[in-house]
Amino acid sequence: MIARLAAHLMRRARHHTLIFHRVLVDRDPMNPSEPTADWFRRLAAMLATNFRLISLDEAVRRSSCGDLPGRTVSVTFDDGYADNYTVAMPILAEFGIPATFFVASGFIDGGRMWNDSIIETMRRLHAGRHELDLPDRSHVTLTDWNSRREAASLIIAAWKHLEPADRQARVDQLSARVNGLPTDLMLTTQQLRALAAAPASTIGGHTRLHPILASLSDAQAREEIERGRRELEETIQTDVTLFAYPNGKRGKDYRAEHVEMVRQAGFHAAVATDWGTLDAATDRFEIPRFTPWHSNLDRFSVDLVRCHFGLI
Ligand SMILES: [Zn+2]
Repeated sequence: MIARLAAHLMRRARHHTLIFHRVLVDRDPMNPSEPTADWFRRLAAMLATNFRLISLDEAVRRSSCGDLPGRTVSVTFDDGYADNYTVAMPILAEFGIPATFFVASGFIDGGRMWNDSIIETMRRLHAGRHELDLPDRSHVTLTDWNSRREAASLIIAAWKHLEPADRQARVDQLSARVNGLPTDLMLTTQQLRALAAAPASTIGGHTRLHPILASLSDAQAREEIERGRRELEETIQTDVTLFAYPNGKRGKDYRAEHVEMVRQAGFHAAVATDWGTLDAATDRFEIPRFTPWHSNLDRFSVDLVRCHFGLI
């Protein structure tokens, strides 16, 4: 009877982990789906009113012993963008929301992720025809924001799963066509330390250079996982115990051997980007998450419920 009741309660006690990447000051035509500060503040207010916001670390601990209360949500950010500190952090603090920031250590202090190099290049290239070496396209024609955004998506999709060194060489060649790409997109050492020192915030590992682990040799993958962790720990002088797989789709971006590497590297838990919730039965090294992309908060809530019951 009690076991049945416990099972019933545990089935309902599913924890939602939300993924964010950036929170922009204003809407950016090259990144239209990224949340703005206004939207993020409204979301934070809605979450703080209706849910119990707990850290991912707490969710992992409590789920392991079947002690997750209902209606819990945690907030995570991937990659280590500077706006996590400058824009999101003050809003999280205003509503007392804990958050975990998964930082790729190799981009700190002026680095730039390859996809951002493409977006920022397409933002700056002069209007007109540009030759490109893509599998099914020889050029793009840039006119308005729409065409620039589409060109960036096309190139990102075509190059996403290339071997990282080959991909970076292509990105460098492409971005050499413009001047003045931004060097302030990612956290600085100082910002990372301030983020780590903020109450209720946690820094997690996200490799060093954000490679798709499945595209690396085992030795390279292990090195990325371990060195990313070591570099963060040296910077913030705190143990880093949570990990997020770059890109994060099981079977496509990471495989069982990478889960084992993360476990062996000393992490306590890891998150993926596949959609789902965390409960007592979830493998704590493959915790699914949920991306809230709806600008309409009612739709967001409906999707959260659908996610809760495994309907999406
Ligand atoms: Zn990432």
